[in-house]
Amino acid sequence: MTTRSTLERFTLAALALALSGLATSCYGGAAANTSGKVRVVTSAELFADFIRNVGGDRVEVTALVPGHADPHTYEPVPRRVQDVVNADLVIVNGVGLEETLMGLINNNVRKDVPVVEMAAGLPLIGGDTNEPTGNPHLWMDPQLTMRYVERIRDALVQVDPAGEATYRANAGAYLQQLSALDGEIASAMASIPQDRRKLVTFHDSFPYFAQRYGLEVSGVVVEAPGREPSAREMARLEDRIRADNIRVVFKEPELNARLLEMAAQDAGAEVMTLLNVAYTDNVHSYIDLMRFDAQQLVEGLGSP
Ligand SMILES: [Zn+2]
Repeated sequence: MTTRSTLERFTLAALALALSGLATSCYGGAAANTSGKVRVVTSAELFADFIRNVGGDRVEVTALVPGHADPHTYEPVPRRVQDVVNADLVIVNGVGLEETLMGLINNNVRKDVPVVEMAAGLPLIGGDTNEPTGNPHLWMDPQLTMRYVERIRDALVQVDPAGEATYRANAGAYLQQLSALDGEIASAMASIPQDRRKLVTFHDSFPYFAQRYGLEVSGVVVEAPGREPSAREMARLEDRIRADNIRVVFKEPELNARLLEMAAQDAGAEVMTLLNVAYTDNVHSYIDLMRFDAQQLVEGLGSP
């Protein structure tokens, strides 16, 4: 009995050490780079998609958050420590999105390895008491995603100058695709009558999309994932759905939709799905995710 609990305590202590960043000695530092590729660590699979599009065959990308999970609240598993220790480059969104991951990253990243925040210095929405740092979902505007891609390109050139021509060519091709995507969504949104371009989403993940395409965020269920709304806030949201004559509200597959479904039912609105970061069974890339959303919005808001 005693031996076992000591062992358990030892295991927990080792785990705590690993997570607190004193792990280097346990893991023996960075593993030898056998692939010869630039090892990039990021938070969400969605961002890994940006990085793979720019890096192509020269990079090996690891996302700390699985494709179906929510990066705001995701708790990384301890074995991810080694991925961070091995990384030649770390790329995150920033603006507080990776609150639960930054400790793991900062404590384990090697000293000479750049940690790039894709949203740094870009124009932010928010910055009020609910979101002191600003709203982090800039990638929902493809034009801002293009700024992310330029940053990824520049960071890869910095850590792997021999690949510069490849990174520039890949980024150029992907930027063209993103620009086309932006035009495609703009014309889809323009087909929705002006007075119906009103959004109710689960958390506040659409302000940049709304700003870019002339929609209005009418309401959100929770100010931030992980925070439950009060009965009074829910009643206010239902009033808003009625007052704005909203017929469709949008849930997110990675977050519990129970409250939104209740509010929608009470206010007589339908529930559809919008994606913002997590993948689904049929959506495995940023471009597919944005097309899915445009289609849902046209279907939900555009039909007479
Ligand atoms: Zn979010």
